[in-house]
Amino acid sequence: MSDAPAGGLPRAVVARVDFGGCVLRAADGSLFAASVAGRLRGPRKSLGNAVVVGDRVGYEPGRSDGREAPAVVAEVDPRRNAFSRRAPGRDVREQVVAANVDQVIVVTALAEPEFSAGLVDRVLVQSARAGIPARLVVNKLDLGDERGAGAILADYRSAGIEGHALSAKRGVGLEPLHAALRGRRSLFVGHSGVGKSSLLNALEPDFALLAGEVNARTGKGRHTTTAAVLLHPEPGVEMIDTPGMRAFGLWGIEPDTLAQWFVEFAPHLSGCRFADCSHVSEPGCALRAAVQSGAVTRRRFDSFLKLREELRDEAPAFNPRKARSGR
Ligand code: GDP
Ligand code: ZN
Repeated sequence: MSDAPAGGLPRAVVARVDFGGCVLRAADGSLFAASVAGRLRGPRKSLGNAVVVGDRVGYEPGRSDGREAPAVVAEVDPRRNAFSRRAPGRDVREQVVAANVDQVIVVTALAEPEFSAGLVDRVLVQSARAGIPARLVVNKLDLGDERGAGAILADYRSAGIEGHALSAKRGVGLEPLHAALRGRRSLFVGHSGVGKSSLLNALEPDFALLAGEVNARTGKGRHTTTAAVLLHPEPGVEMIDTPGMRAFGLWGIEPDTLAQWFVEFAPHLSGCRFADCSHVSEPGCALRAAVQSGAVTRRRFDSFLKLREELRDEAPAFNPRKARSGR
C-alpha cells in the first residue's frame, strides 16, 4: 500500500481527534499531529463529524525548516461505513464514533456490574444499521457461574452474534477473541467498569503504552484521555478504544423501523397479519409467535419493546417536524 497515490496528497489514518485537530498515523507507522482545513469544518469552525477516528485522509505535510507549520488534513476519503450514536447531552445530534470499521466488540461483565442487555442491544442495533458485524464479550467470568455466561452467549448466538466468555483479570478465554482480532479493525465499546481497559491490556500488553504515545501527540500538554483512539499493536491488528459509556443513545433509528435492525427478527416480520404491525399487541403477530415458539429469545424481544418505547418517547425531539407540531 503506497503512502502517496501518484500525483495526490500523502494518505494517513486518523488515530485520534481533538477539539481543534487530530493525530494521524502514516503508512510507515509514524504518528503526528495535524490541523484540519477550514473548508472541511462545519459552521462556527467546529470539527463536528467531518474527521473521525478511522478516516483515511489526504494531508499537506507540515514543515520544520525554520518556518514551522503543522500538517493539515485537506481531504477525507469516502467512508466504507460509520458507527454512530446520538451525541451525549441535550442537543439531538449525531456523533460518528468511528469510520471504516470491520467489527464492533461490545464488552460486558457477568457481574460487578451485572450483565444488562440494554447497552448490548443498542450497540447491536446501531452496528446492524451501519452494516458492521458485531461480537459480544462477557468478561469477569471468574465472578459468576459458567452456566449464566453460557445462557447469555446462547441467546446472542441465536441472534447471529458470536460471543466470548472470559476473564481479563485471570487471563482465561482470551485466545479465541485475540484470533478474531487478526486481519481486522475492531471498535471496542462498553459501560465503564466492565473491565474493557483490563481486557485490552490483557490482549495486548503494550496497549496502555501505545495509547499514551498517541495521546501525547495532541500537543499543548493536554492529557485528556477521553477520546476514542486507534492503535495498531501488531501487524494486522487494529483496535479502537472508546471511553467507557454511561448511556448510549440510538441515532437514525425510528420506532417503526427498529425491528428490522434486530436481524434475527427479519424472517418473521413479513408474517404479521397487519403490514404495519407494531408487534406489541396486535392479533396475528408473527414476531410474538416466534417468541412463543422459542425461535426468537425473550431477552431480545423484551429489549426490543423497551427500546421501541424509549424511541417513541424521544420521537418529537428526534424528528424536528414532529417537534414543531408539538405532537
Ligand atoms: P473499564 O472501566 O471497563 O475500562 O474497566 P477496568 O478495566 O478499569 O476494570 C474495572 C474493574 O474491574 C477493575 O477493578 C478491574 O480490576 C476489574 N476487572 C477487570 N476484569 C476483571 C475480571 O475478569 N475479573 C474480575 N474479577 N475483575 C475484573
Ligand atoms: Zn407483529
